[in-house]
Amino acid sequence: MTQLDANETIDREDLEQVQVERLQATLNRARQNVAFYRESFERLGVDIEGIRSAADLRALPFTTKDDLRRSYPYGMFAVPLKDIVRIHATSGTTGKPVIVGYTAGDIAVWTTLVTRLLRAAGVTEADLVQIAFNYNLASAALGFHYAAEKLGASVIPSSGENVGRQVMVMRDYKTTALIGAPSYATHIASHLREKGIHPEELRLRVGLFGSEGWSEAMRSEIERSLHIVAYDNYGLTELMGPGVAFECSERDGLHVNEDHFILEVIDQRTLEPVAPGQEGELVFTTITKQGFPLIRYRTGDISSIVAGDCPCGRKTARIRRIQGRVDDMIIVDGVNIFPSQIEEILVRTPGVEPHYRIVLDRVDGMDKVEVQAELSADFPYFDEAARVAALRAELQAQLVETLGIRVHATFVEPKSIARSEGGKLERVVDRRPR
Ligand SMILES: [Zn+2]
Repeated sequence: MTQLDANETIDREDLEQVQVERLQATLNRARQNVAFYRESFERLGVDIEGIRSAADLRALPFTTKDDLRRSYPYGMFAVPLKDIVRIHATSGTTGKPVIVGYTAGDIAVWTTLVTRLLRAAGVTEADLVQIAFNYNLASAALGFHYAAEKLGASVIPSSGENVGRQVMVMRDYKTTALIGAPSYATHIASHLREKGIHPEELRLRVGLFGSEGWSEAMRSEIERSLHIVAYDNYGLTELMGPGVAFECSERDGLHVNEDHFILEVIDQRTLEPVAPGQEGELVFTTITKQGFPLIRYRTGDISSIVAGDCPCGRKTARIRRIQGRVDDMIIVDGVNIFPSQIEEILVRTPGVEPHYRIVLDRVDGMDKVEVQAELSADFPYFDEAARVAALRAELQAQLVETLGIRVHATFVEPKSIARSEGGKLERVVDRRPR
């Protein structure tokens, strides 16, 4: 039986008491030390002492990613730099990155929260944990690293090693738990297949994947091809990194660490809370962070709250898995598309690899979308043009049906599409004029 932290199982009423006390302290600190919050509280006439419940949060302003970008580099820090012991940053593929600072206390809390998700996936001190996230400005690798060490597991920081070395380490060091991006897990699976390595030659039994949207179909494929149980987890560097929400052994929604984050789900147009169980944008307020507190941070990520109690015993709220992270979203002729939708179709289509590139262009004022995919090396009809053409037509039809836009599917040379090497992969080439 997994050992749970006391705050994971306390009654709702007691949890809300903890939340309100921590929220009050956070609001006071934010007002005192962050000009952005002081000014916006003043402008809206916010009475901090009047905030007595999580529902009272609605009197407070939202914080958006643009607000964070405008405060680049250190405008949102709530402590002097001498008290910051670590700095991470978002990737900043669109616009300026967001720089996030952690105090020693923040690192300790973060480590505790990530150990919760490792424990929930059954990771113990007996495990050899291979971390295949890049060790860089992004928060994922170090967030997991500290937590796995604290748990007493043996940590293997394989980072962005190429897939061949990654698999060599996995086999020779007898790795039992793999941590990384889901797309990287599929990359490892393809490599095993190509090299004729049977997954049973490895000791791998569990995988913890996050940092990009992925589908249930992709989970099944990873579990089947690596012979592991795969768990989803959710976090944002702006909020902390990994450790905001995670799956327990039930794998029916992700438990939110509500003793450190207050969750709201809002309608993106009206900005009002949605009805219980309805989909909306996730909004989080950090209630223990010292270095970089965020009030009502709009994540842009869409999910809903899972109704009912979880049989695992945790009393914290669960959110549905997030299939498309807003950072990955593409807008084509006004329609929102998530790369995970394309990936799900590729995973389901025999003869095609789950690696792809999306090329966007504008022709005669219309957006043009090309999805480039690779045939599997073991596609039996590689030399038969008619079979390849039929497969291409089938793939295109499925893409058009799922995405609801015109898409052109093409096959490119096997292995010509870049594979993720321990980080987020740029799968989109946007040639449209700004
Ligand atoms: Zn649970």
